[in-house]
Amino acid sequence: MDKLYDVIIIGGGPAGYTAALYSARAGLSTLVLEKMAVGGQMALTGDIDNYPGFEQGIDGFTLGMKMQQSAERFGAKTEYDEVVSVDFTEKIKKIKAVMGEYEAKTVIIATGANPKKLGLENEDALTGMGIHYCAHCDGRFYKDKTVAVVGGGNSAVSDALYLSNLAKKVYLIHRRDTLKATQVYKAPLEKAENIEFLWNTALTSVIFDQKVIGAEIKNLKSNQTNGLALDGVFISIGRKPASELFDGVLNLDEYGYIVADETTKTNIDGVYAIGDVRTKPLRQVVTAVGDGATAVHFAEEHIHNF
Ligand SMILES: Cc1cc2nc3c(=O)[nH]c(=O)nc-3n(C[C@H](O)[C@H](O)[C@H](O)COP(=O)(O)OP(=O)(O)OC[C@H]3O[C@@H](n4cnc5c(N)ncnc54)[C@H](O)[C@@H]3O)c2cc1C
Repeated sequence: MDKLYDVIIIGGGPAGYTAALYSARAGLSTLVLEKMAVGGQMALTGDIDNYPGFEQGIDGFTLGMKMQQSAERFGAKTEYDEVVSVDFTEKIKKIKAVMGEYEAKTVIIATGANPKKLGLENEDALTGMGIHYCAHCDGRFYKDKTVAVVGGGNSAVSDALYLSNLAKKVYLIHRRDTLKATQVYKAPLEKAENIEFLWNTALTSVIFDQKVIGAEIKNLKSNQTNGLALDGVFISIGRKPASELFDGVLNLDEYGYIVADETTKTNIDGVYAIGDVRTKPLRQVVTAVGDGATAVHFAEEHIHNF
């Protein structure tokens, strides 16, 4: 460890590199620690159509690279190193990673979140090719087609409603016989004539022949299995924030998200949480980048008074 950074950012997704851009551009010494590859979840997606400025859309991998280059243009550095523990008890924050130890006046956490998987046999291989986790991102591929949404909470219902405006038919597959979603969805669900509920039902496998052509579903009361013709499956059973490192260190909500409001401030001075890992209503690229800018605004204030 040979340097005390002004700002260390954990995570090189859109939130992390926006924070790095603002920080480096403000003349602060800035380091991004990324455990895998830049771009975060964006690098796993195809085209991103809902990030402004790219009239033809842009593929997530390229957008991630562009965000990194924008930050590096002003001197931000990247180390490909996985953070394994943090010590935020002193004024100078300490970070231990697999290959090194780092110190900073402020830390911005941008470790993101990952969609929960169903555990299907071919789930990873078909991700983005008929199995999806983000209706707002990938729904457009299913105009006038037949899709299933798996889940029964707010996000599943909101995904089903969103898809019902695009797809010909939407099956909402839920393990129970009532939705966990809030009442606010009741009226729009009643209006959406192309949504059909499959209660007490589990989706047990996806049938693939050059492309997704259907799924096997099982009624959990009768144990009867059936085939369902489908063009795509949207799994909407929740997300898991990448916040294990901060359990017992920072305040987390009941789902594991780091508690931070629009200021991105956590319960520890000089530590900020941005993007998908923090408590917020909408987890998208455009909301992640906004957080990155906000966190640096407050980090600058903190460093000024250090
Ligand atoms: C399949 C899919 C499609 C999507 N499509 C769209 C879309 O079209 N439009 C849209 O706006 N949003 C889309 N999203 C959502 C969007 O990608 C996320 O909201 C956004 O990437 C969140 O950014 P983030 O920087 O907070 O976190 P992430 O993108 O999750 O980045 C977090 C980064 O932190 C790194 N990291 C985690 N832990 C550590 C550690 N211990 N040490 C070092 N590094 C660590 C990870 O490797 C990762 O690179 C999609 C998501 C998915 C899964």
